[in-house]
Amino acid sequence: MSDSPFIFSRALPFCPGCSHHLVVRNTVKALERLNLPPLTVVLVTDIGCHGIIDPFFCTHTVHGLHGRAPALAAGIAAGLREEKVIVYMGDGGASIGLQHLIECARLNFPITVIVFNNMLYGMTGGQPSSLTPCGFRTPLRPEGATEANYDICRLLYSAGAPYVSRVNGAGDYSEALVEAFTQHGFSLVEVIETCPSYGLKYNPGQNTESIAQKAGLEFGVWRNPERKVMRLELTYNRASLFSELKMSGKVEREIQTQEPKVREKVASHRAGFGVSRPLGTFSFLIAGSAGEGVQQAGEALARTGVSAGLYATKKGTYPVTVGTGYSVAELILSNKPILYTGIDIPDVAVIVSQDGLTYAENVVSRMSEGVLVIDDSLTHQTSCANVLRQPFRKIAGPKNAVLLALMFYLRLTSVLPVEAFVEEVKSMGRNWNLLLEQMGRLSSNHNYK
Ligand code: SF4
Repeated sequence: MSDSPFIFSRALPFCPGCSHHLVVRNTVKALERLNLPPLTVVLVTDIGCHGIIDPFFCTHTVHGLHGRAPALAAGIAAGLREEKVIVYMGDGGASIGLQHLIECARLNFPITVIVFNNMLYGMTGGQPSSLTPCGFRTPLRPEGATEANYDICRLLYSAGAPYVSRVNGAGDYSEALVEAFTQHGFSLVEVIETCPSYGLKYNPGQNTESIAQKAGLEFGVWRNPERKVMRLELTYNRASLFSELKMSGKVEREIQTQEPKVREKVASHRAGFGVSRPLGTFSFLIAGSAGEGVQQAGEALARTGVSAGLYATKKGTYPVTVGTGYSVAELILSNKPILYTGIDIPDVAVIVSQDGLTYAENVVSRMSEGVLVIDDSLTHQTSCANVLRQPFRKIAGPKNAVLLALMFYLRLTSVLPVEAFVEEVKSMGRNWNLLLEQMGRLSSNHNYK
């Protein structure tokens, strides 16, 4: 257990003696000094040993692809106003994502990047990175690196970063982190570290100071004049969402007056279908094939929920090869803020292809309540009480099957305002009249199991 509001445990997951322990402790100390509420902090981690810290932080955490954490954080920070967005990345991630770092500094996104520079890729066995200094020995280059390293502080300072600093990772540098966290624009702190498992093993007797000295890296702070911070113009408040959707005044009025009713409908729908879990949240799993509009349909449904005054989260899952295999969207709609994405067992599962069923079969087989909306070409095992089986693919084709299935479900249950979903479908450039015609070809005998 921990006595800090920012971290769950005092015991951290790194190797004994690893400098990463100190980066985390200094971060926590700096955040405590700033007295920020934990949920006003977003920690974005990259791939690497440092990235296994995510579950230990009580802040928001997001885990990015290798080298892409700054780009992810830039997008998050640009849409926020009050929150502090911090990036953790190693020297390997900084090498792979160098262009992202340079652009974040050049465009002045309001994020603080902490580079854990232990001069090698620790997680994958100690390979040298572009920040490994000449002569530094690693398992892959036991004779020592022969090329010169990048000076990440100098590079980002040249790119226009308002604040960069390099600190000795062996001590208490929480004050330097406080200073970086309180910058208005982009800031970066490079922490010179040691990795006992690979770095010190191959470079015995060295420490952070001697490594920095041999590499010609000075500790210090470098500043450019402050300038405009990159943020998005926020158009996503409730009022502008309606105008963005080009919704008519009539529809807007209808939806506003429907809000309490919508919640009642969600509640009665759940009760009607025997959903016994606590009211207040309603979850969908939408599963189909890549390239068939599953993510877009999920987004349309989430935006429909937002239009109805509900909170919404969406999580997309698909293989690395985004053009083949399954595509799954998990949505939560609730009348209370939702602090997570993803679901265990959904209230509604919409399955429109074999790829989607193969992915979701395990979840579907555990659905003892709720509703399963499924294409009639698919065979499945479920103990789900309510199964709506229709030829969505046959009637609408692979590209429209998921929209048709969602429309079918909404029209049948009215758990969300159908008008708002229609507007979303139209804004996606889909042929609404065609969908309407396809709806008419579905059976009105709904085949409840
Ligand atoms: S492998 Fe190195 S960098 Fe990774 S946790 Fe262990 S000591 Fe730290």
